[in-house]
Amino acid sequence: MEFNTRLLHGYEVSSYEHGATQPAINQSSSFAAKSAQELEDIFNHRKPGCSYTRVANPSVDAFERRLCEIEDGAGAVSCSSGLAAIAISILNLVETGDEIIVSSSLFGGSLELFAELKKYQIKVNFVRHFVAEEIEKFITPKTKLIFGEIITNTSLEVMDVDAISRVAHKHDIPLIVDATTASPYLVQTIKIGADIVVHSTSKYINGFGNAIGGIIIDSGKVYWNFDKYPTLASFREFRNLAYLVKLRRETWRNLGACTSPFNSYLNIMGLETLGLRMKTICSNAYALASSLASNPKVKVNYPTLESSPFCELAARQFNGLGGGIVTLRVGSKENAFKVMDRLKYATIATNIGDVRTLVIYPRTTICRNLSSFECNENGIFDDLIRISVGIEDQKDLIEDFNQALADL
Ligand SMILES: *Cc1c(COP(=O)(O)O)cnc(C)c1O
Repeated sequence: MEFNTRLLHGYEVSSYEHGATQPAINQSSSFAAKSAQELEDIFNHRKPGCSYTRVANPSVDAFERRLCEIEDGAGAVSCSSGLAAIAISILNLVETGDEIIVSSSLFGGSLELFAELKKYQIKVNFVRHFVAEEIEKFITPKTKLIFGEIITNTSLEVMDVDAISRVAHKHDIPLIVDATTASPYLVQTIKIGADIVVHSTSKYINGFGNAIGGIIIDSGKVYWNFDKYPTLASFREFRNLAYLVKLRRETWRNLGACTSPFNSYLNIMGLETLGLRMKTICSNAYALASSLASNPKVKVNYPTLESSPFCELAARQFNGLGGGIVTLRVGSKENAFKVMDRLKYATIATNIGDVRTLVIYPRTTICRNLSSFECNENGIFDDLIRISVGIEDQKDLIEDFNQALADL
């Protein structure tokens, strides 16, 4: 099946109860067992089944299976938010004293999360140029994982997943990729080398801006060295699925960051139009970026514009697509505010991946807790607007930005 067909006719779809075309919303906290023995069996993994929604719920399970199928994973665990998914994907592997290697150009919230990890004596090595040669310099025997964003939100740096995964695998370290900004439409990240993929489903996967969520997808391709990963040793019997089983039975379950059944239902509804939305979003974003690039008063960044240093890589890795984020430098903060206030069709809001076009001034909002140095290093300039392009008609969008920029 091709991508869009799979979104609609994946094998899970035909297994919804009563032949329903959408899964039931099992909005229940607990599930009655038929006998005391049955509940004991479910708790002790002797029998599949649901006992309590923090641990398992059929609607949440339906979403996990759908996305796992789309991403070609071995299993998926859905979380209360994208940040919860990132935190849990990492805490599932590391202990005090361990080291991890992380891109320094991540989404602002992720950078704050990694700063938090330092408090637990986990050494976080931030790498400015997140390329294989630079990353390799930071690898020590204590390095437990490498983490990066496939297209960084907001600096729009593209990660060469294949090249970085080769370095990771040479040293027996898993590569965790936050693929939120690409979504499975641009690439299935496991296929190009990622071992574990996380998404903020709040963005393109849900697509309608109506449910916060995250997901961790395990490729099942890592044959863990249990001497190097003692946190997984008690799951040794699950071999290449040790990480996934530990997530379910310990880290994710204990941290309590579960998804609500209703949000899972909304996510499944959104997922079915992912291809349709992304096609329009990518085409609108490229058209808008190209049009803005011809305006001498502004500087535009978009991964597949020739002016981007990542143009060739993006074209190769994403089959010519560049995603839905465009950034624009307009000379000053005053200009940025003026332009944003003048836009008719772009909503001023802190999100990406909505059907509507959204704009934000990152420096004093989502990136307000980063130092000036970090902001400059990450391309969060004080005249920068981030645009999350929506599915409006291209002509309206371009005209709207032209009028907003007219007399800067
Ligand atoms: C939004 C975002 C997150 C955080 O996700 P939430 O669902 O808001 O917690 C993480 N990574 C990237 C790339 C994001 O865009």
